[in-house]
Amino acid sequence: MSAPLEAFPLRNTDIRDLESLCKILWGWPDCARCDSQNPCSGTPDCSWHRFKKLNPFFDHYRVVTKRYIPDFEARCPQALRNHSDLQRIIGLLRNNPDAQLSHLTAQCFNLDGTAYTSPPTNADQRRAFSLALHIMSMVTVVVQNSHVNDLEAALLPDVWADDVSPAEYLGTVLQTQGHAGGGAFPSHEQRLAQNMEVSRVIMSLKARRLRKIGKLDFEATDNLNNHLKLDKKKGVVKLFRHAAFLKEQLLASRTAQTSTLHTLFEGPELTDGLRCVRRLSRHYALEVLHSIQDVLFPPDAKSQAFLRSLISEQDMDPDCTLYNRSEYELDGEDDVTYKWLGPRMMDLYEELENPTPRGLLDQWLDRKSRARHVMLATVIGVFAAVFLGVLSLIVGIIQTWIAWQQWKAPPSHDA
Ligand SMILES: [Zn+2]
Repeated sequence: MSAPLEAFPLRNTDIRDLESLCKILWGWPDCARCDSQNPCSGTPDCSWHRFKKLNPFFDHYRVVTKRYIPDFEARCPQALRNHSDLQRIIGLLRNNPDAQLSHLTAQCFNLDGTAYTSPPTNADQRRAFSLALHIMSMVTVVVQNSHVNDLEAALLPDVWADDVSPAEYLGTVLQTQGHAGGGAFPSHEQRLAQNMEVSRVIMSLKARRLRKIGKLDFEATDNLNNHLKLDKKKGVVKLFRHAAFLKEQLLASRTAQTSTLHTLFEGPELTDGLRCVRRLSRHYALEVLHSIQDVLFPPDAKSQAFLRSLISEQDMDPDCTLYNRSEYELDGEDDVTYKWLGPRMMDLYEELENPTPRGLLDQWLDRKSRARHVMLATVIGVFAAVFLGVLSLIVGIIQTWIAWQQWKAPPSHDA
């Protein structure tokens, strides 16, 4: 007999769920000397001292898992009955980053020997996989039958199709982000040209300048694919909130270079002929961290004060102020070229050069300065000149007439 269906099966998250999450996401080993609440100090091979730093990520995990609602179909079990089900899917994705979605769902739900008496509905299966991939990557993942309205759907990335692997899906989402409208991927030459442009303008993209000159505000986001996205209308730039999560991914990926562990943030970018294989690389995580710590908030006092104000106002992860690169970077990674985030950086630079008018006065002045208003002002000027000319002619005629009258009949001086 199947278990009774629950409306929000993941509404509660306890400390054990979070500990097992760290083990499954990043391969944290058990430690005989400590636990997550009382970690070893000064022991580099033990990971549990970083547990509390991940609180902002854990808060996000609690929020997104709490929202999971299964399908309520007779005789169909729900895809996620508890956190262990979700973490089993995370493990499956981590170990098979290049397997197609349909193979993975079959392996999880449909084959003999799975934990389910019968398969959950297709929509519920995909919902569970999208949640798992989001937790692993912090990228917005869209699957068929996602509960989004048309307006939201227009802003979201491609749907994760059944014949696409998780690694390929993430690579596509992040690589297409700088090419709104689904344009073609840039060629090698275009990318080189873009890199040169970005390195030319990068020094001028401090967050303080963007606020002062571009009148831009900053808003923290939980979605990695929204990082540095500019909303021109609102005057808002998105900043990815979870620095500690990215550093943990990079640490896990660095460990994976010398072991058989799998990770979605893989090592050096592969190339396939002319263009880079669409695959999420650790380079993306590095670009995001460097864009925050080097470009927007370099280590000068004023920039750091601004960053701290965003941490308190926008709930940015306090870990983004911590410059501990030697812990997670590989040799030669310190010099980052912004091949993923470059287009967004150029958007910010363009906004600095030609700020979008936002205040009422700015908008009024902008309207007045447009070409048709310049033409209108010229026409009004010409009419005014003609009018004044006619007026002075009339005054001249009247003066001449008065002088003529005086000449004809000069006033008598008899009186
Ligand atoms: Zn320990």
